[in-house]
Amino acid sequence: MSGMDLSGKVAFVTGSTRGIGRAVAAALHGAGAKVAIVGRDQARAQAVASELGERALGVACDVADRARIDAAIAATEKGLGPVDILVNNAGITRDNLLLRMSEAEWDDVLDANLKGAFHTTQAVLKGMMKRRSGRIINITSIIGITGNKGQANYAASKAGLIGFTKSVAKEYGSRGILVNAVAPGFIETDMTSGLPEDLRQAMLAGIVLGRLGRPEDVAGAVHFLASELSGYITGQVLIVDGGVAV
Ligand code: NDP
Repeated sequence: MSGMDLSGKVAFVTGSTRGIGRAVAAALHGAGAKVAIVGRDQARAQAVASELGERALGVACDVADRARIDAAIAATEKGLGPVDILVNNAGITRDNLLLRMSEAEWDDVLDANLKGAFHTTQAVLKGMMKRRSGRIINITSIIGITGNKGQANYAASKAGLIGFTKSVAKEYGSRGILVNAVAPGFIETDMTSGLPEDLRQAMLAGIVLGRLGRPEDVAGAVHFLASELSGYITGQVLIVDGGVAV
């Protein structure tokens, strides 16, 4: 499908050493894009990039650290070219009931999930504005819409990401930069592997499509939002949850 072709484009996918980000990176790479694999560990990022083969580069950085983000973007631009597609996917959980939640648990989650997107987006915006084109896709969560017990920090970060998406879409739409969010439901990755079996079964029971999500399910939506086929869509949140929130 030519409308989904990304040949010649450069994508910077945060948190792409595992899980959803890795599937996103593989999908964009499979569509012809050059892809920067980003995680906190250089060896791991490089290993995943090597698995993809040509047109992939491993870059290490903590998205919460602006100086390291700037260096990672510079390395990507040097190695692959200017960034056309930014996927803000890096994210963590530090679950706790609010009364027990430490300031560190709050800060760690907000720094990685929300401030990280602020840093990366600022770092690529100028170049995108000059070229009058760009795609930014933020991975939020249905928890950012519904809330969840034990996840006040995570839900706040993901709801924040939705407000961020809509605001940046309005600020830079006239410059040809499209900004959207994808809100996954329950996806089978390292992040969700520790959930107790009874909770897993309860979640499964609420899913219209009768199965948990796979990283590739999210990757398909991101690929669409990175492609020409979504050229008239901005400021939106695409829910990919198998029908939980229907
Ligand atoms: P994983 O825990 O499987 O992977 C997280 C990825 O983020 C890893 O590649 C990790 O890389 C990277 N990462 C974490 N913190 C940082 C940081 N500070 N700087 C740079 N990279 C970082 O998570 P998932 O794949 O499950 O989740 C990906 C995104 O999707 C997250 O934003 C999550 O909130 C969201 N999501 C997930 C859902 C699910 O059910 N799994 C549902 C809804 C949303 P490394 O360890 O190498 O640094």
